[in-house]
Amino acid sequence: MESVPCPVCCTFFIPRNKSQSFCPKPGCQRARKALWQKQKITSDPDYKEGQRLSQKKWLQNNPDYWKKYRRRNPEKTDRNRSLQKIRNMKKQHPPEPSKIIGIAKMDARKPLLQNLSGQYWLVPTIAKMDAVKIFITSIPVNSP
Ligand SMILES: [Zn+2]
Repeated sequence: MESVPCPVCCTFFIPRNKSQSFCPKPGCQRARKALWQKQKITSDPDYKEGQRLSQKKWLQNNPDYWKKYRRRNPEKTDRNRSLQKIRNMKKQHPPEPSKIIGIAKMDARKPLLQNLSGQYWLVPTIAKMDAVKIFITSIPVNSP
């Protein structure tokens, strides 16, 4: 059989049969299963309900999971809290349609009077993509 590229890792492999399109690497098989499950949940209400009940039962048996997860992943926790604050703000104070600015204009930025150094999440408002963490560091004007 002819080798084909895996849609996840883009390496060529020889499929075992005509329907195999993902290579056998564990990460690619997890991606295949996740894709299948995502499609199944949107197309099969019974499967979706079964998954919801199964997750609920699992969480009842592992009540400290999220507490431990947040302790293990402080950066993700921080990110999620920031995004939730933004979601809450949007819900409480939805912007007027005329005030929504989707594209940043660099020349519209006012001169900085205060230090903005720190870590921020850049949250896209137009494209559906993940938020990106950025670091802003101030550089003295007279530096070489
Ligand atoms: Zn692969």
